[in-house]
Amino acid sequence: MTDLAATTLATGTLPGLPSRHWIDGGWHDAASGRTMESFDPGSGKAFASFARGDAADVQAAVDAALAAMTGRWRGITPSERGRILMRTAELIRANAEFYAVVECLDCGKPVGEARVDVASAARAFEYYAGACDKMHGLTIPLGHDYLAYSVNEPVGVTAHVIPWNYPISTTARGVAPALAAGCTVVAKPAEQTPLTALLLAETLKQAGLPDGVYNVVTGTGAEVGAPLVSHPGIAHVAFTGSVATGCSVMQAAARNVTSVTLELGGKSPAVVMADCDIETAAADILAAIYENAGQICSAAARVVIERAAQAEFLDRFVAGVRTLSLGHGLRNPRVGPVNSPNQLERISDFVEGARANGTEIVTGGSRTSDPDTGLGWFFEPTVLNNVKMSDRVAQNEIFGPVLCVQPFDDIEEAVAIANSTNFALVAGVYTSDFGTAHRLARDIDAGQVFINEYFAGGIEIPFGGNRHSGIGREKGLEGMRNYLRVKSVAARTSPRRTH
Ligand code: NAD
Repeated sequence: MTDLAATTLATGTLPGLPSRHWIDGGWHDAASGRTMESFDPGSGKAFASFARGDAADVQAAVDAALAAMTGRWRGITPSERGRILMRTAELIRANAEFYAVVECLDCGKPVGEARVDVASAARAFEYYAGACDKMHGLTIPLGHDYLAYSVNEPVGVTAHVIPWNYPISTTARGVAPALAAGCTVVAKPAEQTPLTALLLAETLKQAGLPDGVYNVVTGTGAEVGAPLVSHPGIAHVAFTGSVATGCSVMQAAARNVTSVTLELGGKSPAVVMADCDIETAAADILAAIYENAGQICSAAARVVIERAAQAEFLDRFVAGVRTLSLGHGLRNPRVGPVNSPNQLERISDFVEGARANGTEIVTGGSRTSDPDTGLGWFFEPTVLNNVKMSDRVAQNEIFGPVLCVQPFDDIEEAVAIANSTNFALVAGVYTSDFGTAHRLARDIDAGQVFINEYFAGGIEIPFGGNRHSGIGREKGLEGMRNYLRVKSVAARTSPRRTH
């Protein structure tokens, strides 16, 4: 354990936490003067307070972002934007342990996972730093007497509404391409995890970002998120969160004809063929459902398994579950707490429903607590076997450490089960047969398919869902196009001939 993690675990908090909105390059109390608290899910205790914003704070942040958009930010060349983003990546890496410990305390995840998230945030800034001066337009052949070209312009002020499960990496994957494109930002982190989006403000300022280009307003979805996404000054909303909220964000944005990207939920299948390396598949899926206690939109929430391999898979998987340590995130266990009492209640409700329905619970199935303290909001890593397509636990996103096992007999049935929910975010495929792998990749409805390694890829790969999993793609150069709009210019260059 690092010294910072150890002292934080001992004291229950840490000094130097930001607590106010970041607007126009400085810290500001909420206009109303109100505050709210952030809780450590590993102990269930409040450890920090922060500004509880409302529409007045949103207005101040949008005003600052609009002024920066038409003023100081526009005067900065794309190559200089790239240098600012690259310095941001370096500064995040230099402060990585502080970021990781804050993230761990705020959202509960094991500090080792938080370190990976912080590294991926740095990598997002590094990746888009290189893209600032490369998203050029086209010249279009109209004929000898014309010059026609297209220009990629920044869309304007962008709003970023962020959930509590991957706060810093989700913030970075939206903010870095927006800044790279020349846009300005108002970010609204989740009320459960406001801190790392605020830390990023100081880092960006240190890296040389002009005041007003990145702003953060903290508070609830109703009091800050809703006025932000319905503000007429916002040109694009990047929303990550639940389907229900995503729908209301889209409706609010539509009233101003504001574009949206929606990264919503998932109930992703990992299709395991009997010809694959079952040991590798079991180890991968263990990580892909129990990372962040299953609170991952792209978790491998369903194993769709060829019946011939079901028993072997379950043996290996359950043996893996028995090795998982559970505890406070700062002790860096394999499984940490879930983020809130609400989330714990939701998971418990789904599992109790399955139990009442007669579903076989192979392992886990109950709430628990930190074995060292008896505190915190924990749920045991759980496996539900022979789950039917129509079962509530198969159709809904539980967003917790609960794996559903769904056997199949032939590949058509595998595809039918994989595609049997309203979600279509990602999918895993495990097979040693090249043709089967690509047939499944073709036939499974998903924004991203991983073959023989769940979560293969990084910021370079476009990510997003189909159907109820969302609209649009983030990450990759595709993700930067959300923040650019094309202007076409067509000019006559020589006088018109008169006859
Ligand atoms: P949520 O929709 O309740 O909240 C997400 C964010 O939206 C928070 O910042 C919240 O304050 C804000 N918000 C709430 N109401 C709002 C409103 N009316 N207008 C504007 N903003 C509002 O979701 P949650 O419970 O915090 O997060 C869990 C959900 O997010 C899960 O369903 C999960 O799958 C999804 N998620 C998806 C991805 C992805 O990339 N696809 C990533 C992480 C989480």
